[in-house]
Amino acid sequence: MDAAVVVLGVAVAALGASVGSFLGVVIARVPQGESIGGRSRCVCGEPIQARDNLPIAGWLLRRGRARCCGAPIPAWYLGIEIAGALVAVGIYVLILLVL
Ligand SMILES: [Zn+2]
Repeated sequence: MDAAVVVLGVAVAALGASVGSFLGVVIARVPQGESIGGRSRCVCGEPIQARDNLPIAGWLLRRGRARCCGAPIPAWYLGIEIAGALVAVGIYVLILLVL
């Protein structure tokens, strides 16, 4: 396999994880009647720092706990980000197979 194919695949996975992360925000906020715009906030109200807001890696590095107050971050956030990455990679692989 070509290195460029792998590098692009990693980028596609990151993009998919970001889409999953956005979906997580929508799922978490829309039923509460909250805006989907603005910075991510912890349950304690503290803004979440960019380094902790990376899809998948942010959750894993913090082991599912908020940096500010240690509040648990639900595992479904991680799940939906991984699902987003898998769906994106799946589409990418399908496209590669067709080409
Ligand atoms: Zn907090």
